[in-house]
Parts: sequence; C-alpha cells; structure tokens
Amino acid sequence: MIWILLGPPGAGKGTQAKMLAEHLGAEHVSTGDLLRQAVADGTELGRKAKSFMEAGDLVPDELILGMVREKLGAGSRGGWILDGYPRNRAQAESLGAMLGEIDQSIACVVDLEVPEDELVRRIAGRAADEGRTDDTEETVRNRLRVYRDQTQPLIDYYGGQGLLKAVDGVGGIEEIGDRVQAIAGAAGRTAQ
Ligand code: ADP
Repeated sequence: MIWILLGPPGAGKGTQAKMLAEHLGAEHVSTGDLLRQAVADGTELGRKAKSFMEAGDLVPDELILGMVREKLGAGSRGGWILDGYPRNRAQAESLGAMLGEIDQSIACVVDLEVPEDELVRRIAGRAADEGRTDDTEETVRNRLRVYRDQTQPLIDYYGGQGLLKAVDGVGGIEEIGDRVQAIAGAAGRTAQ
C-alpha cells in the first residue's frame, strides 16, 4: 500500500510524512532527501541532479524513476509514504505502471493545503534553520512556479481517480498530524 503526500514547497509534507510513516508503520520515501543525500555523497546521480535542484527545477524523470524503483523494489512490510513524488503527470503515470508490476495500490493522495503567503514565510524561516542551498528567494519563487505548472495538475489527476483527500495544512504540527493520520488511516483500512 502507498500513501502519497502532495502539496507545494513549504506545505510541511516532510514533517507530516515522517509522522505518518511512524503512525502507520510504513517507510518514508522523500525524493528530495534522497537527492540531497546523493549530492552530499557525490554520487553520479547527485552530480547529475545538483544544478536542477539549485535552480529549483525538476530533476529529469528518468533519474527519479530509477531512485524510486530501487526503493519500492526492496519491499516494505508496512507500505510506503511518498513525499515529493510524483511531481508531474509523467511521474504519476510511471508510478502507476510500477505499482501494477509489484501488485501494490494507492490508498490515497493527501493534498496539504496552505495559502501562498504562508508558504513563502515558512520557507524563508526554514532556509535560516536548515541551511538548504535551494532556499534563496529566486529559487523558492521558481519552485512555487514549477509546483503550479507541473505538480498542481496532479490534484485533478488523482481527484479523477477518486483518490484525493484535501487536508487543511494550517495550524499546529500535531493538529495537522491528527488530520492527516485520521484520513490516511481510514483510506488504508478501506483499500485493504
Ligand atoms: P520542496 O518540496 O521543499 O520543494 P523537496 O525536498 O521535495 O523540496 O525537493 C527539493 C528539490 O529536489 C526540488 O526542487 C527538485 O529539484 C528535486 N526533486 C525532489 N523530488 C523530485 C521529483 N519527484 N522530481 C523531480 N525533481 C525532484
């Protein structure tokens, strides 16, 4: 079983994905974290991905697909929480094909909704805390644009499949966590 966390940069997907993974006993898969690790390790993947990440652009789909295939191919007893993937229509379609191959399905897609002015405020704060090199104002603006152009259409894509669950992403971390866990837990039980 797979749960997908969708939402703009700064929506809190990473934090909520970690909490949800713990709650469900599933494995948290963040393509952003995997890419940052590859860059830090200086692997071939990291060298290829770095310039795209620093510009706030999407890393080419085939690099991402290889990374995700490796993770899902390894199996997981409790399923997976996908955070930051899929991010465009092509990735969503290749994920669908991959899930068919390994006989897995999507429990639900949680869309974390946060207004844009709140996002910009949060990302600016996070840049200071985490020292991420892709959190400059220009990159952030580009990431938000890329989100709107490429990722936001997935809301309709998954909505059309009856898999979308919108969650209000404004409030305390625990409070939002309770909302996410209630919805994702219920979807997991129904889908099983
Ligand atoms: P955020 O959600 O805050 O933008 P992430 O940690 O999810 O940050 O991603 C950081 C960067 O990693 C993205 O701007 C992009 O360059 C790259 N990236 C992460 N996931 C993907 C993906 N599924 N497809 C393409 N690029 C990705």
